[in-house]
Amino acid sequence: MIRMYIGFDDTDSPKMGCTTYVAALLVVKLHQIGASFTDYPNLIRLNPNVPWKTRGNGALCLRIQCNEELVEEIMETTIDTVEKNADLSYAGTDPGIVFFLNNIPGELRAFAKKTIQGIVKMKEALKLVRMFRAEAVGFKSGRGIIGGLAAIGETLENDHTYEVITYRTPKNRGTPRRIQVSSVREMNEKTLPLTFNNVDPETNRILITPRGPDPILYGIRGESPEAVRRAHEMVRSQEPIERWVIFRTNHGTDAHLRRINSIGEIQPFNPIIVQGALAKDPQVIPGGHVIFRIKDEKGEVDCAAYEPTGTLREVAKKLIAGDLIEAFGGVRPASSKYPVTINLEKIRIFNLAPKIAFFNPKCPHCSKRMKSMGKEKGFRCDKCGFRSSKLKKVAVKNKRVLKKGLYITSQRSQRHLTKPILRYGKEKANVPKKMIVNWHFP
Ligand SMILES: [Zn+2]
Repeated sequence: MIRMYIGFDDTDSPKMGCTTYVAALLVVKLHQIGASFTDYPNLIRLNPNVPWKTRGNGALCLRIQCNEELVEEIMETTIDTVEKNADLSYAGTDPGIVFFLNNIPGELRAFAKKTIQGIVKMKEALKLVRMFRAEAVGFKSGRGIIGGLAAIGETLENDHTYEVITYRTPKNRGTPRRIQVSSVREMNEKTLPLTFNNVDPETNRILITPRGPDPILYGIRGESPEAVRRAHEMVRSQEPIERWVIFRTNHGTDAHLRRINSIGEIQPFNPIIVQGALAKDPQVIPGGHVIFRIKDEKGEVDCAAYEPTGTLREVAKKLIAGDLIEAFGGVRPASSKYPVTINLEKIRIFNLAPKIAFFNPKCPHCSKRMKSMGKEKGFRCDKCGFRSSKLKKVAVKNKRVLKKGLYITSQRSQRHLTKPILRYGKEKANVPKKMIVNWHFP
């Protein structure tokens, strides 16, 4: 028996398809050929801030064992399935497949990390393919080879989650999704906190169904394969489910965010965590977006909490100059209109600056609040007529409504990779990989 890792990426387009569906098809086909799976199919979300991603920037890896004489058939079947199910007519879709027959070397793990947290070039991927005698197959520019290779290298030995994804039958794709909304709410209540991001608590909107023409009916995320499967069984679908698969993923783990030491280290398209103090009070710009600037000894950068971020925007609005925070988010490069900006996913407030308001002094004779007689001209009392040029404005410390702590964008605008508040304290580390259970074949 030999071990084989199959990574692939970039088969879908905004018009059709989904790379997870290609994996779902391959699971059945490779099983029929005689391969056995050593892990759930892995769905690895890569840097969400790369400028050329299609939708979620998710790459897939299938980890199997098989007899050596099956290798060729497995490779042919994979290439054939990717080719038949990729939207090759779409200009930005450049599928790639990587077959890896070695142990996962450190170089490949590092490459995966870089692909999740930053920007990598095709030549870096091809160098690794050559170095470890992997086989790579690319369609068109073959850019999907990068993601395919990264998915192989991310072995999810530390924090990870699961997602059950259900798929629609071909005739229903492109039509409104029909599932019983009340069953989703009930499932949410019964399975929390072992599942997450099913329903947006602020709008009560169902979050498990995507929009658009892709083949996914719904996806439920959670802490274990058992939890997502149980949740899936509680959802009442009013249309047939063609197939479903449980994926092991890096969803909800913050794997994309890298903590940097100073604002000076910020690079465009990199998701980062950086500390800074507010340079001035935030500004609300048209559209309801909140913008503020943070600074440290090395530089300054704008941070944006967009309107859909909900709670996060409300928190951002209440910050004031001098507040010490940590900003979490993707870095958008400077444009002709805006400077370099961190698109906020989270804010951690370390220290709240005192909020000071200045008032006119009270009259020493009758306690009535006095009136100013003009700048530096002193104060006068309307009630008793007392005047003074010596009295000064009094400073009053206002209580801050904000509390220190961590604030996260509303569930409806969280990225695939954003760790929701519910998952804090549930991070997995060095968990032995479970063997696959309860495969479901249509
Ligand atoms: Zn008075």
